[in-house]
Amino acid sequence: MRWTMDYQQILENIYQAIQPYAKKGKQADYIPALAKVNPDQFGMCIHTIYGEIYSIEQADTRFSIQSISKVFALAMCLSLKGDELWKRVGKEPSGTAFNSLIQLEVEKGIPRNPFINAGAIVMSDILLSMLKSPEEDFLAFVRAVSGNDTIQYNDEVAVSEREKGYLNAAIANLLKYHGTIENDIERVLRFYFLMCSIEMSCRELSLAFLAFANHRKKFNYAGVTLTTSQVKRMNAIMQTCGFYDEAGEFSYLVGLPGKSGVGGGIVAIYPLQYSVAVWSPRLNSKGNSVMGIKALELFTTETKESIF
Ligand code: GLN
Repeated sequence: MRWTMDYQQILENIYQAIQPYAKKGKQADYIPALAKVNPDQFGMCIHTIYGEIYSIEQADTRFSIQSISKVFALAMCLSLKGDELWKRVGKEPSGTAFNSLIQLEVEKGIPRNPFINAGAIVMSDILLSMLKSPEEDFLAFVRAVSGNDTIQYNDEVAVSEREKGYLNAAIANLLKYHGTIENDIERVLRFYFLMCSIEMSCRELSLAFLAFANHRKKFNYAGVTLTTSQVKRMNAIMQTCGFYDEAGEFSYLVGLPGKSGVGGGIVAIYPLQYSVAVWSPRLNSKGNSVMGIKALELFTTETKESIF
């Protein structure tokens, strides 16, 4: 069923209501290139499956999508490997930080899920093994699902992250030790950081994620094909694992499947209704955007719409 609501007015009200949070939190600075971003920015955009678009503030400013890229990587890996993928990576929430090593050691090199760094590093390895031109193919897929050929990697961010990427290198080493990755560690990390460095705006991200919101529509972009059931299952993983050790809190406050990144972006979907992207660089202690979470919480509260 379709019901209409003044989403634009709701967005504008939300922007006013979140102002008390404008200086709360701190942008990611463990990636030196991200420390240079002006933290006092905010954008939000909604695309409905009926073609309406609503946006406010810096909805057209591109930012580093970081871990949001893990959703695109999962779509590609599922398309290439199907259920075989789950031999290499789990699908349970981790309840630990995105870059934690703890479970990986105890669970002998099988990452809990594809949306923590360890899981995405395994997906980077899978794509390297299965594709002749992984960098080109990944970008081609993101461009196709976004309907936008100008989307790019940011090499400066990728290189900057590698220079200080000691923790991710430790994760890759542990994975290699346990035989979960096949390729050279340096090659796997380089590709992982490159995927994270993609830059998109809220408008571009919310359009791209319509493909996940509208799971009844054929999913076929640049050769990446998924069944309706696979898209629905990806959404389930976004619900349970999209926010690391804050997945429960996000589910409680917002009630939508989604994915965050340390660039300050969050995308969430309301199946068969809309996709929404929000961005603000200041993060809470779990690495999620403070204003982003607050804006989404208010949005699903004001609209009285969530999956629950
Ligand atoms: N590139 C970042 C990292 O590996 C991604 C983390 C994130 O967005 N949560 O640390």
